Amino acid sequence: MATDREPDDWWDRAACAGLPTSRFYPDPEDKRRIRAAKRICAQCPVRAECLNEALALGDIEFGIRAGLPPRERRKLHRQTNPQHEAEETAA
Ligand code: SF4
Repeated sequence: MATDREPDDWWDRAACAGLPTSRFYPDPEDKRRIRAAKRICAQCPVRAECLNEALALGDIEFGIRAGLPPRERRKLHRQTNPQHEAEETAA
């Protein structure tokens, strides 16, 4: 995916490095494209780093990150971030 990160960042080792970002933001109803994005993530050597970053940044609303759709990332975010409920209530 396109980013503006530092050169030695873990992102350089990502299976999605250089791929169009759009491949990880399929229509939520497009099961074929969702499965394709998950397959790329399944072979990614930095999947843990990707998930940690997504949860730390609250990237839980759109697209596939670390092989997980928003619903699954929201669940993990709730479990790992006590602020989550307060944020949802305030929104
Ligand atoms: S886990 Fe998926 S979205 Fe995350 S860096 Fe790897 S390929 Fe990209």
